[in-house]
Amino acid sequence: MSTAARPAYFDRTHTDDLIAYLATSPSPFHAVASAAERLEKVGFRRISETDAWDGATGGRYVIRGGALIAWYIPEGVGPQTPFRVVGSHTDSPNLRVKPVPDTGSAGWRQVAVEIYGGVPLNTWLDRDLGLSGRLALRDGTTRLVQIDEPLLRVPQLAIHLDRQVNDGLKLDKQRHLTPIWGIGDVTEGLLMEFVAERAGVPAGDIAGWDLMTHDVQPPSYLGRNREMLAGPRLDNLLSVHASTAALAAVVADGGGKLPYIPVIAAFDHEETGSESDTGAQGPLLGNVLERTVHARGGTSEDRARALAGTICLSSDMGHAVHPNYSERHEPGHHPMPNGGPILKVNVNNRYATDGIGRAVFAAACEKAGVPWQTFVSNNAMPCGTTIGPITAARLGITTVDCGIAALSMHSARELCGANDPYLLAGAIKAFLEG
Ligand code: ZN
Repeated sequence: MSTAARPAYFDRTHTDDLIAYLATSPSPFHAVASAAERLEKVGFRRISETDAWDGATGGRYVIRGGALIAWYIPEGVGPQTPFRVVGSHTDSPNLRVKPVPDTGSAGWRQVAVEIYGGVPLNTWLDRDLGLSGRLALRDGTTRLVQIDEPLLRVPQLAIHLDRQVNDGLKLDKQRHLTPIWGIGDVTEGLLMEFVAERAGVPAGDIAGWDLMTHDVQPPSYLGRNREMLAGPRLDNLLSVHASTAALAAVVADGGGKLPYIPVIAAFDHEETGSESDTGAQGPLLGNVLERTVHARGGTSEDRARALAGTICLSSDMGHAVHPNYSERHEPGHHPMPNGGPILKVNVNNRYATDGIGRAVFAAACEKAGVPWQTFVSNNAMPCGTTIGPITAARLGITTVDCGIAALSMHSARELCGANDPYLLAGAIKAFLEG
C-alpha cells in the first residue's frame, strides 16, 4: 500500500496526553489529581469547601474524594448567568482490596478483593496487576499511592483441568477471583506493610485505605495504521480528560467574555449507581453551583434563573458496532470508531437526550467542525445508563447524553478510535463556549 492511500492522521497530541493521563490515573483519586494538575497549568486554583468563597473572575476547582468540579468565572457575568456543565465520571469497574486483605490457600499468599461495579470477570484473568489508591493517615492527612509493578494476578485454571471452559467460563465471584501475590504462609499485615513501604510512610501511620487493582500494561495505539486506542479505564477517563482539556483550552483561548459559566463535573461512583457524597446523586454539583451564585452576591432567585438557563452535557462511553456481534446492535445506528462523538438517545430516559438536546449537541459539533453519530439500543437489548438522567432529575436542568463509541466496555482493557478523544474535546469546547 502506498503512503498516499493511508488515511490522514489527526494531530495526536491530545491522544498522547490522554495516554499519559490514563497511566497516571489508576484510581478515581489519582484521576482528579491528574486533572487538577492540568487545570493548574492554565491558572486554576484549588479552593476548599470549608472556606468562604469569593466571586472573583478566573478558574477554581474543588476536589472531594474521587470527584472534581471546576469552573471559570468570565469577566462581566452576573449572578443569574447560566452555566454550561460537562459531566463525566472518574471510576471504573475493577477489583478492590477488602478490609482484611491477607489471605491464602494451599501454600499461596493471596489478597482478598471485592468486585467494584459491572466487571466482565474473565477480562481480569491472567493479567499482571498493580495496586493504587488512597491512604488515610493517623494525622488526618491522606496520601496517594500507585504501585505500577506486576504484583498480583488472578490465574485462570488450565484447560486440562477445565475441559468445558470454551463452552462458557463460569467464575464464582468469591472463590475464583482472589489474586495471588506470593508463595508462603498467610501473614497478617503483610500487604499493608508492603504498601506503606512503597508509599514511604510508616505502616503504623496508616489508619485507613481505599485500594484497588489495575492492569500494569500501558495504554497503546493499535492497528495497521495505529488508528485505534487500547487501554484501561477509557470508560470514563476519556471523558474526564476531554472535558478537562476542553475547559483548559477555553481559558487558554483567553476566557474573557463568555455568555455562560463553563463548568466540568467529574463524579465518582457512577459504576455503582452514583449514590454517594461524591456521586452524581449527591448534592455536590448543586451545592457548588449555588455557592458560586452567592459568592457573586446572588440571591436564591438568581440561582433559580441561572439553573433555568443551564445545560448539562453528560459524556460517557458508548458502544461501537461489534463486527462479530452486529446483530446485537440497532441496524440503523451503527456507531463507528473515529466517526466522531455519539449522541445517546433512549426514550425511556436511560439517557436524558431529547430533541432540544440533540439540537444543542449538533450546534456544538457543527461549530467545532466535528462529525457526530447517534446511538440508540436494539429494542431487544436492555440499555445502559449514566449520570445524565440523574443530573437532569437532581438539578432540573436540560441534559444531553453523549460519548465515544468503544468496544469491550468495562473490560480491564477497552478499545476506541484514536481520533475520537480529540473530536470529543473539540465538541465539548464549543459547547462550553456556547
Ligand atoms: Zn461509564
